[in-house]
Amino acid sequence: MKYKIFTYGCQMNIHDSEVIAGVLEKAGYEPSETLKDADVVVLNTCCIRENAERKVYGRIAQLKYFKQRNPNFTIAISGCMVQQPHVVEYISKKLPYVDILFSIKNVNKLPELIEECRRIDSITAALAGNSDLAENLEVKHTSSIKAWVPITYGCNNYCTYCVVPYVRGREVSRLPEDILREVKTLADEGFMEINLLGQNVNSYGKNLDKPFDFPELLRRINEIEGIERIRFITSHPKDLSDELVLAMKECEKVCEHIHLPVQSGSSRILKKMNRHYSREHYIELVNKLKDAIPNISITTDIIVGFPGETEEDFLDTLDLVKTIEFDSAFTFIYSKRIGTPAAQMEDQIDDEIKKERLKRLMELQDSITKRKNNELVGTVQEVLVEGESKNDAQKLSGRTRTNKLVNFVGPKELIGHLADVKITESHTWCLIGEAVN
Ligand code: SAM
Ligand code: SF4
Repeated sequence: MKYKIFTYGCQMNIHDSEVIAGVLEKAGYEPSETLKDADVVVLNTCCIRENAERKVYGRIAQLKYFKQRNPNFTIAISGCMVQQPHVVEYISKKLPYVDILFSIKNVNKLPELIEECRRIDSITAALAGNSDLAENLEVKHTSSIKAWVPITYGCNNYCTYCVVPYVRGREVSRLPEDILREVKTLADEGFMEINLLGQNVNSYGKNLDKPFDFPELLRRINEIEGIERIRFITSHPKDLSDELVLAMKECEKVCEHIHLPVQSGSSRILKKMNRHYSREHYIELVNKLKDAIPNISITTDIIVGFPGETEEDFLDTLDLVKTIEFDSAFTFIYSKRIGTPAAQMEDQIDDEIKKERLKRLMELQDSITKRKNNELVGTVQEVLVEGESKNDAQKLSGRTRTNKLVNFVGPKELIGHLADVKITESHTWCLIGEAVN
């Protein structure tokens, strides 16, 4: 039996798909390159914005054709979309050829669910699941060099635009001993980079019985032999403490990069978003980070067209982008999400205005990214070499400690190692270079 997984959305979903693959392979399934050869297809979905959902519905429609040709072809859907009651109702009524809806918390039951759906002729749902993702599940890592390790699940922040707390549940921290054991095992298996995952890693430990916070977790992981680099996403500005800045500065394995979503440069909009920080507080945080770690790269997420955003608010965002000079930014058009407070707000912004603001923001950020990348031409950067470049098999590819993608000329033996690379050219999305020793 063969499986194929389609993953949508954030890094947490990408990691969840590694767990789905691990569970299926433990049960004897093999991966399939093509849809045509697959017996089971799993869609691991995202609902953060409307277009994420649209892509999933497009894929489900395509799968109908495979189901018609082979009634044993099994379609299973997991991820954030199926945690929304209106989506479950829609799929059950309108897309009855879907076989299984399952919560990622029930991923260990997936092989049984597949067996069961072959016996009964209706959608099998395993959506409830009060416990967290089980510990000690097999993970089929997509890289043998860098690994993703969740440290918290869910989110307690209820930003008014965001659906995550409703679909991922309340924030739960994994036990430090479980995380440290997992990282130690990964180090023993040869992984060099650890990426700690959570919707708000800075609040790690809040629900634990014994005091253990994120800076302490970083310090403990920093001691694990074999690990060369530590990264983490995502940091919420409201919980970024002085202790964390100090831990980042003092732990030599923690990379000089932070993804710190600002969302808006207007304090008025930040308040409406329920973000619990102001524009001034954010600038202060960035200054602290830059003082402690002078070459730190700072990346962010920004939403344009949040309800009530005036041209003045938007100009505040452009001004903040110029002030901070982010290394790069993910920029989004606000998308109305059912069940969130912002969806009920009256002053929704016209689509044309949203698109025009996004264009202006992207143009500004691209020019800053380009300029910052250009400053690196002529320098030598430490790159963790991950493999051949996707666009040019003659080149290798990897990332600097500041998380910039570098495609460079060098011997294949460098794959899986740290290499010194001289930067010779810069583009908006990557740097070009050559190995120097
Ligand atoms: N937990 C992280 C945080 O607080 O920054 C990231 C969560 S989310 C997966 C990634 C990004 O999607 C957010 O930072 C936000 O910019 C964006 N986002 C979330 N909801 C959105 C919405 N309704 N419309 C547009 N963008 C949204
Ligand atoms: Fe969504 Fe806010 Fe939680 Fe991030 S912190 S997942 S944006 S609610």
